[in-house]
Amino acid sequence: MIDLHCHTLHSDGTDTPERLALLGDEAGLTALCLTDHDTLGGIPALLAMQPRTRVRLLVGTELSCRFLGRSLHVLGLLVDPLNAAFQARLEELRGRREDRNRRMLVRLGELGYPITHEDVLQQSDSPLLSRVHFAKALAAKGFVRRAPEAFARLIGDDCPGFVPRQELAPEEATRWIREAGGVPVVAHPGRFAGSGFRWDEAMADLQRLGMEGLEGYYGEYRASEQKYFLALAARLGMVVTGGSDYHGAHKPGLRLGSGRGGLKVPDELLDRLETQQIHGTYQ
Ligand code: AMP
Ligand code: MN
Ligand code: MN
Ligand code: MN
Repeated sequence: MIDLHCHTLHSDGTDTPERLALLGDEAGLTALCLTDHDTLGGIPALLAMQPRTRVRLLVGTELSCRFLGRSLHVLGLLVDPLNAAFQARLEELRGRREDRNRRMLVRLGELGYPITHEDVLQQSDSPLLSRVHFAKALAAKGFVRRAPEAFARLIGDDCPGFVPRQELAPEEATRWIREAGGVPVVAHPGRFAGSGFRWDEAMADLQRLGMEGLEGYYGEYRASEQKYFLALAARLGMVVTGGSDYHGAHKPGLRLGSGRGGLKVPDELLDRLETQQIHGTYQ
């Protein structure tokens, strides 16, 4: 069993990379890939754990791009952590995130929910601030009772306090990831669009824009979704990946490796991913 999608406190999870590696061992995983949003900040500490763990520790990241007027997440799996150009590109993305964060503070103030940068920073164990930390700050200030309420009323994608980031074009994301030696994979397509959405054409478009794989196994998919996306990948000749999207305490009840209980990502997917990485095709 493997897990190719998880987060640490270097983005919006709550565990250190060291603890994540140990959890990987405990879960009996053969490999795990760390995919923090917009950063490889947790990677050095993760890789330093390799001599102390059986689970193979792999390098990745999760980027956001704009597709059909909405945010589409893209995993950059097996990127080279020493690629300086990619690091500079991630830094640029973090700059855009900080810019968005500043504007979101202003917006929330205008709406009658004044919180400060300091308030948000207090909720994070790393310099990267995400909406998860905004939600906690709003709860700490008493503007909402609990963090999920902040997403429901204030800072969720369609809420008045949400300010979008300047997001990448899909072809930029895929080029950046490929140039860093990684494989671009559409993250949790089932979360991008509801059950009425017909993926065939949209996914073929994404494939033309450089996406080479899709997340067919996911910590929060129903069995029917998993079946649908595995069949879609087979039809289009895309590599399949899978992961829990573990965020530690920020996603209660969701475990590394097994997700909500039923997740089981087969080892063979990693062999195919590595073939895809080298040859551009997994067949
Ligand atoms: P950001 O990248 O700063 O825009 O924050 C996005 C993160 O917020 C996602 O990666 C999720 O971890 C979290 N998130 C987004 N929407 C929700 C929601 N409706 N409920 C809970 N968490 C959410
Ligand atoms: Mn997240
Ligand atoms: Mn995501
Ligand atoms: Mn994720």
